[in-house]
Amino acid sequence: MNTIQLSVVIPVYNEEAGLQTLFDRLYPALDTLGISYEVVFINDGSRDRSAALLREQFQKRADVTRVVLFNGNFGQHMAIMAGFEQSRGQRVVTLDADLQNPPEDIGLLLAKMDEGHDYVGSIRRQRNDSWWRHVASRAMNNLRERITRIKMTDQGCMFRAYSRDIINAINSCHEVNTFIPALAYSFARNPAEVVVGHDERLAGESKYSLYSLIRLNFDLMTGFSLVPLQMFSMAGMLISVFSGLFFVFLVVRRLIIGPEAEGLFTLFALVFFMIGITLFGIGLLGEYVGRIYQQVRHRPRYLVEAVLESRSED
Ligand code: UDP
Ligand code: MG
Repeated sequence: MNTIQLSVVIPVYNEEAGLQTLFDRLYPALDTLGISYEVVFINDGSRDRSAALLREQFQKRADVTRVVLFNGNFGQHMAIMAGFEQSRGQRVVTLDADLQNPPEDIGLLLAKMDEGHDYVGSIRRQRNDSWWRHVASRAMNNLRERITRIKMTDQGCMFRAYSRDIINAINSCHEVNTFIPALAYSFARNPAEVVVGHDERLAGESKYSLYSLIRLNFDLMTGFSLVPLQMFSMAGMLISVFSGLFFVFLVVRRLIIGPEAEGLFTLFALVFFMIGITLFGIGLLGEYVGRIYQQVRHRPRYLVEAVLESRSED
C-alpha cells in the first residue's frame, strides 16, 4: 500500500449553496499538485442538503474522497477532530467549506512545509469580514498573546497545515472543548506562517454568531491558560499586603494622634484585609481546580521526537 501524501479535512455545516463550487475548485487544484491525496469531509449535522451532496461527490470520486457523517451538530472543532482521526495522509490541511480561503493556496502551505516546518499557519492577506469581527479578533489576539504562550498572527484562520506527528498527538487528546490551531501549536516543533488569500463568503452565511465566537474564545483562553483562575490569588495577595500595611499605619496613627472618626478607618482596614484573604482563598481554590482541570484533560504530557539508544539484544 502506498502512503497518501496529503489529507484535506473540511468541516461542513449547512453549506449546500457553496459545496458544488468547492468541489469544482478543490479537486482540480489538488490534481495539479501532482501528489497522492484524499479529501475528508465531515458533515456536522447539517439540516440542509449538504449530506446528500457529499454522498454524491463521494460516489463520483470514491478513490480520493471520504465522508464522515455526524448525527448532530458538534461544532467545527469537533468535526475537524473527527476528520483528523479518519485522515491517513502524511500531511493534513484544514480548509473551510465556504471558499473564504482559496484551495489553490494549499500549494503555498505545502511549500512552506517542505522547508522543514511541521506546522504552517496562515495569515489572511486582506480580511473580508465585517468590521466588528476585525476589531474583536484584534482584541482577542492581544489578550491571548498575553496570557498563553501561543503565538499566532491570525488566530481566526483555520486554513493550516499539520504534519502527521502533530495529528497523532492531537488524536491522543480527549478534550471536549478545544481550539485546534492552538492545540496543534502547542505540539509543534518548528511552526511557521504564510500569507494566503481571503475572499468573502461564497454563499450562505457565517455559522458563527457573536455568542458562539465568545464561547469559542473562552475555549481558547481556558483551554490553554490558567491565568484567569490565578488572577484571583494574585489580586488577593496584593490586597492583603496593602491592607496589612494600611492597618499598621492606622495603629501607629491611633497611638500618636488618638482616636479618630470613632474607629471607622480601623474597620475599613480590617474589612479590606478580610476581602483580601477571601480573594486569596478563592484564588487558592482556583489553583487546585486548575491542576485538576489539567489532569483530567489527559493531554499527552510530552512528545518524544526520538530516543537515541543502541539496540540491546534480548
Ligand atoms: N462549521 C461546522 N460546524 C459548525 C459551524 C461551522 O462544521 O457548527 C464549518 C462551516 O461549514 C465552515 C467552517 O466550519 O466550513 C467555518 O465556518 P464559517 O465560515 O461560518 O466561519 P467564519 O468564516 O465566519 O469564521
Ligand atoms: Mg468562513
